[in-house]
Amino acid sequence: MNRRDFLKVGAAVLAGGSIARGSKAADLDIAILDGWVIDPESNTDTWLNVGVRSGEIVVLTKKPIVANKMLFASGCIVCPGFIDILAHGMDIENNRYQAMDGVTTVFELESGAEDVDAWYAERRGKRILNYGASAGHLHARRSVFPDEQDFEHKEATAEQIAQMAAHLERNLKAGAVAVGMAIEYCPGASREEVLEMFRLAAKYGASVHVHLRYGNMQPPGTAMEGLQDVLDYASQTKAALHVVHVPSMGLGNTRKLIEMIAAKQKAKMDITGDAYPYTAFATGISSAVFEEGWQQRFGIDYGDLQWAATGERLTKETFEKYRAQGGTVIAHAIPEDAVKAAMASPSLMVGSDGALTNGVGHPRSAGTFARLMGRYVREQKTVSLKQAVRKVTLMPARRLERRVPAMRQRGRIRIGCKADITVFDPFAIKDNATYQHPDRFSSGVKHLLVNGVAVVEDYRLLDGIFPGQPIRARVEKG
Ligand SMILES: [Zn+2]
Repeated sequence: MNRRDFLKVGAAVLAGGSIARGSKAADLDIAILDGWVIDPESNTDTWLNVGVRSGEIVVLTKKPIVANKMLFASGCIVCPGFIDILAHGMDIENNRYQAMDGVTTVFELESGAEDVDAWYAERRGKRILNYGASAGHLHARRSVFPDEQDFEHKEATAEQIAQMAAHLERNLKAGAVAVGMAIEYCPGASREEVLEMFRLAAKYGASVHVHLRYGNMQPPGTAMEGLQDVLDYASQTKAALHVVHVPSMGLGNTRKLIEMIAAKQKAKMDITGDAYPYTAFATGISSAVFEEGWQQRFGIDYGDLQWAATGERLTKETFEKYRAQGGTVIAHAIPEDAVKAAMASPSLMVGSDGALTNGVGHPRSAGTFARLMGRYVREQKTVSLKQAVRKVTLMPARRLERRVPAMRQRGRIRIGCKADITVFDPFAIKDNATYQHPDRFSSGVKHLLVNGVAVVEDYRLLDGIFPGQPIRARVEKG
């Protein structure tokens, strides 16, 4: 506790006679004091004390309040906990980095879960952060085509498409948050196959979170064609569409993709998208993404590839060796201008696309949200602080809340909402993870509450606390 905080304790205690109504000392579990509250829904942008009881926000006041635990937030922003709508790392290792990056809820919506029931059961009571998953088309396809070559390239028969649909439907009935599709990873998927998955999503009021079929710099197969492809499915079926990691599909064409998405939003189509604030994408080197012609498709060469496990840049020889072996490769292929356009755009949210395994991976896994607030808000002034907060709180909550009512209680600082709260120092917040050292915590997040439980306190991660709750759609019988 610094001197200023110490003085505030005195002020709060001395002011006991004027405690805000409904907040007697013992009533509140936690008070967050003297912070600057930003809430994108109510447009709150002012100094307020926040009181939390039984996991919910129960007091918002300018009057002094006291609680069993007093967290001081002088000079800090107090906002809804960040929601990572494009996470992949869903274990404790990843949760620790995500918490230090200001995240309170993580969703695996692109790849999704293979068995949604089992996925939620495995995590119950064992996660720092809230968690949710989609029904994943890749898993459904793999259940039909266990052989990797077939999985990627074989066209499914009508009967096999029906099997995939049944697989997804089981998971939607089990409360999957959305439908996930990564079409580029299975070039064999026909239009009819993809369309059928969209139909099913529409039937269950689920948004389809899609990695486009193409992301080439030159035709055929530009990202604009990839986007038009899914726009067609969405308008035919009326399914809600969410395009994942727009700049890593669009590359040098990102501004055009954003314009297309913004135009459809203006025309009242239910379409959203996200982006991560980095100029490199990362994926499995053995996947279909790196089939012959990738240099032309992405406008890069061997030297633009970096092996995640060692940080080395690749050559023709090492590329072939690692493609046979398998593992994560980082591709420096996204122009900075594309990243800036995405961070600035009110049409796109921000999600990490990240996962670390034993500390190995892309720095986006640990640094996405601090990088947004530090590099793109404070340093480069690419986007305002309020707009940046909206992109990682209210926007993802609204994307999911039609199918998942639990999301109506998150992504907001409002009385009665779940107390998922991020408190950060806007002058200090900074990502520290790099391509060489992706396993570095972000700095500047002072406190983090998940369902009213502090998991970061005074810039320190508290170990052994697992308040994360499942975020799930209604489970249907039969
Ligand atoms: Zn992807």
